[in-house]
Amino acid sequence: MADCLFCKIIAGDIPSSKVYEDDLVLAFRDIAPQAPTHVLVVPKAHIADCSAVTPENSAIIAHIFEVIPGIARAEGLENGYRVVSNCGPDAGQTVQHLHFHILGGRPLALEMA
Ligand code: AMP
Ligand code: ZN
Repeated sequence: MADCLFCKIIAGDIPSSKVYEDDLVLAFRDIAPQAPTHVLVVPKAHIADCSAVTPENSAIIAHIFEVIPGIARAEGLENGYRVVSNCGPDAGQTVQHLHFHILGGRPLALEMA
């Protein structure tokens, strides 16, 4: 997607602080970290948000959850971490390319809403 920030990061047109990459996903540090560790994991294919997950692309989502534990381990998050994906305006989604926040490195408040 030409006008997508994360597609531009994946293409290398905008720099990022990469923590993990394979054929299907890229993980990089959030530019405005909300916790000592704040990593974004994104599919390389443009998927707009959780509502755009389909039987055709859901294997990528499964793969993301397969790589998250290794990223968390490499970040030293032995005490736990949170995985969050905001979908749509009410959730505060600001980048319309599906991404999973990995947050950790401190106790996180139990805010569900
Ligand atoms: P969300 O609000 O769930 O859509 O999350 C978007 C996230 O992208 C926010 O946490 C931003 O801080 C982060 N972000 C925006 N631009 C960049 C960038 N150039 N590099 C890394 N993270 C970014
Ligand atoms: Zn995109």
